[in-house]
Amino acid sequence: MPLFDFSKDARANVHSIKKRTLKMILEASKSQFPEEFGALLRADKGVIHELILLPGTVSGERHAIFHFNNLAIDFTIVGTVHSHPSGVCYPSRADVDLFGRYGWIHIIVCSPFDRTSWAVYDGNGEPRELKVVD
Ligand code: ZN
Repeated sequence: MPLFDFSKDARANVHSIKKRTLKMILEASKSQFPEEFGALLRADKGVIHELILLPGTVSGERHAIFHFNNLAIDFTIVGTVHSHPSGVCYPSRADVDLFGRYGWIHIIVCSPFDRTSWAVYDGNGEPRELKVVD
């Protein structure tokens, strides 16, 4: 028997994001431009509703570096978000490595950071759905 069944983990069942949280991500990414913005995603009952800015998260021209060891084990955190100032909303190889190591859902937002400038991926870097809710 597996030690831990991830399919039964509530964090695997994130289905939506609050409209105001998505707006906050896009605005933060815009104001951080041309640097990269990065944060962790917190969910409640399958709905992402909060951003966690990590102390020590480094923004750079290439990629945000997430220092996960700064983070206490927090079972409400479901994944990551970061921006691509380049305007390409696809994950890089480094992103897919990151996605596989941490979390269940990953958002990439890209320049020009308008309402459609975002994409969602699972831990394997495969596209997945996420509803926007009020
Ligand atoms: Zn990236």
